[in-house]
Amino acid sequence: MQIKCNVLDRQFRLHQKEYEEAALRVLRSGWYVLGTEVEKFEEEFAAYTGRKYCVGLNSGLDALIMSVRALGIGEGDEVIVQANTYIATVLGITENKAVPVFIEPDEYFNMDAQKIEQAITPKTKAVMVTHLYGQASNMNLIAEIAGKHQLALIEDCAQSHGACFDGRMTGSFGISGCFSFYPTKNLGAFGDAGAVVTDNKEFADKLRMMRNYGSRVRYYNEIEGLNSRLDEIQAAFLRVKLKYIDELNDERRRLAAAYDIGIRNDKIILPKVRDGANSIYHQYVICCREREELQKFLQEKDIQTQIHYPIPPHLAECYRHLGHKKGEFPLTERYAQEVLSIPIYTGMTDTEQQYVIAQLNEF
Ligand SMILES: *Cc1c(COP(=O)(O)O)cnc(C)c1O
Repeated sequence: MQIKCNVLDRQFRLHQKEYEEAALRVLRSGWYVLGTEVEKFEEEFAAYTGRKYCVGLNSGLDALIMSVRALGIGEGDEVIVQANTYIATVLGITENKAVPVFIEPDEYFNMDAQKIEQAITPKTKAVMVTHLYGQASNMNLIAEIAGKHQLALIEDCAQSHGACFDGRMTGSFGISGCFSFYPTKNLGAFGDAGAVVTDNKEFADKLRMMRNYGSRVRYYNEIEGLNSRLDEIQAAFLRVKLKYIDELNDERRRLAAAYDIGIRNDKIILPKVRDGANSIYHQYVICCREREELQKFLQEKDIQTQIHYPIPPHLAECYRHLGHKKGEFPLTERYAQEVLSIPIYTGMTDTEQQYVIAQLNEF
């Protein structure tokens, strides 16, 4: 049996008719970028996350870059970020010439809130928190610390659509909740897409201008903008999937629970969820000291796995100029050596999952 890490066509087939109708509706409408589908999706997604405004954008990376920029954070400013996040989180900072100040994660792979205060300097302007692998971070404490030091709080929710801390949606704690709708994300479109959610009208208005060449009225350019517009067809697809996102997340939770119960191997450490937090299991990430051997073993059994992420940003080639050294963030670097994401996707069958579990237990 061959098991892939991601099987995207099954979630398409699950609601195929609705996606096809949405596509035809847009194709026949004669309006393809920033129109009524985008407006409706923005309303619906703002409501889903419990926020007043949503601004649809081109990608999750744009949501991060533009949030930092719209907050006036730039050259010489520092932004605190967890060292084990995806490179895009850090690019959101460095694309604005601001400096990422890395801190170690906790045992849940999320930002270690206890490490924030010691990283604050007079130059610190914001805390950027990633709800990694789909689990909500320790948000009450993080929001409290950010508030106490008057730092902007930006949430990278690219992996956490619908995940909550203390019953409150990720993306609703900071001034900016940044989402990606890249096809592999839990709320994935069928192409690139992203959004920011916020309660701050001024901030939302600025992003709206910024995404469309810096103009509110066409050809009257108030600020130096970008092109980060959301397509109507992607917004229409997202409106379909948003109706089912809780069901889709529940399915992943059931799959995760079956892994929790089924995997019995002393060499493998299972992921944990913090009290008060929940996870939408964007990834199901195990740890193993013999990770390379395990990955090879599974490959031989035709089971695909992925590593999120093999090289932490502070050691990435592109950030060599930041001058970080190996050994500076031991926990982050250990995770990079030991984490392995095993298959979890919409429509994964019992037979497929039991096969994966059996092989993991045999290793
Ligand atoms: C996917 C992802 C992004 C970037 O989103 P794109 O839509 O691909 O630009 C940012 N941060 C995290 C944590 C991600 O997983």
